[in-house]
Amino acid sequence: MNFKVATWVECVHCARKYDIGELRYNCDCGGILDVRRDLSAIDGQALKQTWENRWGMKRGAMSSGVWRYKELILDLPDDRIITRQEGNTRMYDAGLAGKYAGLKNFLLKHEGENPTGSFKDRGMTCGTTAAMMYHATSVACASTGNTSASMASYAAVSGLKSIIFIPEGKIAYGKLAQALAFGGKTLQIEGNFDDAMSLVQDVCRELNIYLLNSINPFRIEGQKAIGFEILQQLDWEVPDWFVIPGGNLGNNSALSKGLEELYALGIINKIPRIAVIQASGSAPLYKMWKNKTPFEAVKNPETIATAIKIGNPVSWEKTLRGLEWCNGVVEEVSEQEIMDAKAMVDAAGIGAEPASCCSVAGAKKLVDAGVIDPEAKVVGILTGNVLKDPDAVIGYHKNELANKGIVGTYANRPVIIKPTVDAVKKALGR
Ligand SMILES: *Cc1c(COP(=O)(O)O)cnc(C)c1O
Ligand SMILES: [Zn+2]
Repeated sequence: MNFKVATWVECVHCARKYDIGELRYNCDCGGILDVRRDLSAIDGQALKQTWENRWGMKRGAMSSGVWRYKELILDLPDDRIITRQEGNTRMYDAGLAGKYAGLKNFLLKHEGENPTGSFKDRGMTCGTTAAMMYHATSVACASTGNTSASMASYAAVSGLKSIIFIPEGKIAYGKLAQALAFGGKTLQIEGNFDDAMSLVQDVCRELNIYLLNSINPFRIEGQKAIGFEILQQLDWEVPDWFVIPGGNLGNNSALSKGLEELYALGIINKIPRIAVIQASGSAPLYKMWKNKTPFEAVKNPETIATAIKIGNPVSWEKTLRGLEWCNGVVEEVSEQEIMDAKAMVDAAGIGAEPASCCSVAGAKKLVDAGVIDPEAKVVGILTGNVLKDPDAVIGYHKNELANKGIVGTYANRPVIIKPTVDAVKKALGR
């Protein structure tokens, strides 16, 4: 494979380099891999101008909010790119959710506005393009829901067969519906996400199927574009903080890797801090970071934020490297904090799925703790769409989540009435 700039894959653990033409997900030492390129061969200012020139393009691969940045993603000819014009997501003033978090300058980047409703599309456009590059015919993933929804769609678009491993009965309905609708062969396994993840790696090795979990370094490359696009939307003015949920820990790793590359190229000249937020019931990174102990998986992860219900995240080593680079922090939030923050994001008119709202719950907690200054410029990432998990929304607003220890603090209860004007008046308190 020939790229304009030397490109290879490199072990995160021992820094061993491999030819990019060789299909592999792990180093011989067991470490996971990064895509690396010779940044010294790139002129940062010229590259930034190229990206500015592509802003607002109307059609084709360069109208994608991922491939606009292809020089730092995967520099292939446009006709080899599998895209749904993903990215180009909006960034909102947090409104009510900003007041709730105690922040004056709080923006929410809504990755739930991607084609299949989560940021996973940014990784998947790159992952399926890589699958085609390696002449794969089938792709597979283990998923808490959004990865499978995204993969099934991109596989359908590119004519690849898709095989999905999901933990039985444990994924949000909207996501399962998408996987089935897009034609993914869906295998529900007895066990949790971590069991599914371990199985799919064996299956891919044995059956020669291309693996599209975030262990796949090309997915991480695509997800870097979240940070690139935020900065371009801010005219390259770097915020003080990014706040982002952490499950399998691919997305925060992608964010920091992308920022690190922009910094190395002189496209930005300030290093923002990153806060990774985990749900208390699934917080192996938080435990490790807080107690300064070696990594240890959480055996039975639990949380209503099913997208981050992961006890054995594959990218923790990448995350630590990123946190070190940007002087980042890790925080955990409770089920109640997640759902109350979600009520605020939703009531602000923006809306997002539970896992996404860790960004707001975590920002609030870090402001309260004096870690984030109330005057700081903060960007929270909303990772998934409000429609992904209707059960969580209805459960909260009907105050029916007591079995999960969650109270509908800001519940907007539906009211059942007789079909008369009087009944309406009474319901409206007139
Ligand atoms: C996948 C996902 C996450 C977690 O991202 P990781 O890269 O696994 O840390 C968070 N929120 C939503 C909605 C997701 O789909
Ligand atoms: Zn290695």
